[in-house]
Amino acid sequence: MTSLRTSAIAFAILSIAPQIAHAQTPENPAAKLIGTNCDRASFRVILDVGHTVEAPGAISARGVTEYEFNLNLAKQIERALTGAGFARTEVLVTPGLAKPAMYKRVAHVKETPADLLLSIHHDAVPNSFLEKWEYEGKPANYSDRFRGHSIFVAYGNGDHKASLEFAKLLGHQLKDRGLHYAPHYTEAFMGRFRHELLDKDVGVYRYDALFVLKTPRIPAVLFEAGSIVNRNEELLVGTPEYQAVIGASVTEAVESFCASRALQVAQKPAHKLASAPRIRRHARSQNYSAAAE
Ligand SMILES: [Zn+2]
Repeated sequence: MTSLRTSAIAFAILSIAPQIAHAQTPENPAAKLIGTNCDRASFRVILDVGHTVEAPGAISARGVTEYEFNLNLAKQIERALTGAGFARTEVLVTPGLAKPAMYKRVAHVKETPADLLLSIHHDAVPNSFLEKWEYEGKPANYSDRFRGHSIFVAYGNGDHKASLEFAKLLGHQLKDRGLHYAPHYTEAFMGRFRHELLDKDVGVYRYDALFVLKTPRIPAVLFEAGSIVNRNEELLVGTPEYQAVIGASVTEAVESFCASRALQVAQKPAHKLASAPRIRRHARSQNYSAAAE
């Protein structure tokens, strides 16, 4: 079992090696130029860790909770963002059972001045697709049928246009690194989990019923980083290399989004500034004339 596991991890890492190399290449100069308009020190991202210790979400093919995957990845993304200058990034962990925890997390988002909510999850499948196997002598469930990440937005969100903008930016970053989204959410067999594909190029889906997305007034996006019931993908998404690729993708997407929001403020007529993105309130260090170029 050990050698099988080792070779599976090696295969998983090899398959993303080109993306890791890409993640370490310099940013493209155009993006960097636009990025100068973004006040990173004050732009605040809330990284919502999906689920809780008490209600941990899906269980992986090898018996690890989704919450554990979500927490590890959120911390990796936090490191990438703070390393890039987004020092106010917050990892949001909520205790308790599912519903009370959900109310706590949306209440926190409501009370916290922030520019973006990114909810971190890992995917599973509807129970009807699960098959049985044994891992380390214990019965477990898996489905190798589906793989890939996916990105969700809700049209009921207080700023759904900006939510969609960030979702697409993230999708493009992931695609640029050679990652593939999960296409099966459009299939009829997904039943109540079937969703409209808003961007078929980069895999952004509409999921209006998601409480954590529809309730906030700030832009909000939910990211499923991969399927942990897929036996190979579980090994892949748990590697530091894969998490680094995700961290780099999120960071570049946030940089572009922050710059785009700053540009919107710079281009907005003075009499409309009251409805400008929140960034205006802490954008005192920005050079507006440069931002408009
Ligand atoms: Zn989840």
